Amino acid sequence: MSTQSVTLLGSTGSIGRSALDILGRHPDQFQVEALTACDNWELLWQQCQLYCPRQVVLVDTQAADKLQQKLRQSGPEVEVLAGMQALNQVAASPRSTIVIAGIVGAAGLASALAAVRHGKRVLIANKEPLVMAGRLFMTEARLHGALLMPVDSEHNAIFQCLPDGYWDIVSEREAGIKELGVTKILLTGSGGPFLAWSYEDMARATPDAACKHPNWSMGRKISVDSATLMNKGLEVIEACHLFHCQPVNIEVVIHPQSIIHSMVAYVDGSMLAQMGRPDMRTPLANALTWPQRIDSGVTTLDLLQLTELSFSSPDERRFPCLRLARSAAERGGTAPVLLNAANEVAVHAFLEKGCRFTDIPKIIEQTMERISVQDDTELSCILEADHQARVEAHKALAELL
Ligand code: NAD
Ligand code: MG
Repeated sequence: MSTQSVTLLGSTGSIGRSALDILGRHPDQFQVEALTACDNWELLWQQCQLYCPRQVVLVDTQAADKLQQKLRQSGPEVEVLAGMQALNQVAASPRSTIVIAGIVGAAGLASALAAVRHGKRVLIANKEPLVMAGRLFMTEARLHGALLMPVDSEHNAIFQCLPDGYWDIVSEREAGIKELGVTKILLTGSGGPFLAWSYEDMARATPDAACKHPNWSMGRKISVDSATLMNKGLEVIEACHLFHCQPVNIEVVIHPQSIIHSMVAYVDGSMLAQMGRPDMRTPLANALTWPQRIDSGVTTLDLLQLTELSFSSPDERRFPCLRLARSAAERGGTAPVLLNAANEVAVHAFLEKGCRFTDIPKIIEQTMERISVQDDTELSCILEADHQARVEAHKALAELL
């Protein structure tokens, strides 16, 4: 196999660090072209020592200056770029064939889209851009010959349980996944840290408690999304785009052990599941080299050590975010954009102790009630809806206080 050049957007995050761990295990197969971060220049400096990228980007210009100085004193020769625009530049650069989209939130949309528009293998962990603009991503991928590889563990599991080449079949025919004999996609989720908590206890939950996920170690935004079950809601929307299906085709199943990462049920009674330890290096490795497989550093499950695999339905009364996301998915158009933007504002406020955990769905619901949904999903319309929803969500937040 020839050496592939990889650009990693969001290298200092949880996904970014897992991805670098895999790349470091296969120096003969991968070389690092560019790394990017928001402002954590110290960690980016350490990553420069270990992985010697040709370029790095820091969105924060002061952080970029500090890294520049530090690299001049000691460190490899690396070109340091600054600002949001530079993210798009490295994502689009013809020097890399693989781009890993590991930025969190809508902030990663433009760079992930730039990589798709340049026909790369794009490993998409950053789910928010897919939630906002999934149709656009799928159309552009087809147009530019990009390979959009699902990294979110559930979507990577579904990808592994569908037949190869499913996309050409489902995207061209009305019947969608039915054409493949699929009756249902079962999207599993652990239920998060508050699975057994009462509503009253959740109303008093601290950011640290919400970020203490029982099985996965992740960034703080997705950890809160896992605690509200908004993460599952976003994943339903993400799956509708990646697998060309409708919300009704997707059932959310609570599976607290996080061993089965999702399942696909077929018309003949077969149900295929992908199992493994809850470690993002498995889906990342699969997405990096599919259809080949490489060592990810994750050991095989020891089935004899498993005491229980249990499944239940989610409680949408205690976790209203799942209901809100499902209705946004069913409404379509810009509804998921509004949902995502209001959620980003509300989660950020909760993490900064600006509202209660149980206020998150209230802020989202109020935002969505105040803005009319557009059917147009052109990029300009998506960005306008995102902006409007952030303004309304801040108003809804202020009214709570
Ligand atoms: P994280 O907070 O740990 O890391 C985020 C990365 O994005 C960091 O490198 C940070 O510097 C960068 N970043 C943050 N804000 C930015 C901005 N405004 N502009 C440019 N860069 C910015 O997040 P994470 O847990 O690694 O998650 C990344 C994405 O992957 C999210 O969309 C998340 O939903 C998705 N995801 C994560 C996991 C996981 O296990 N962590 C699993 C599935 C999906
Ligand atoms: Mg997931």
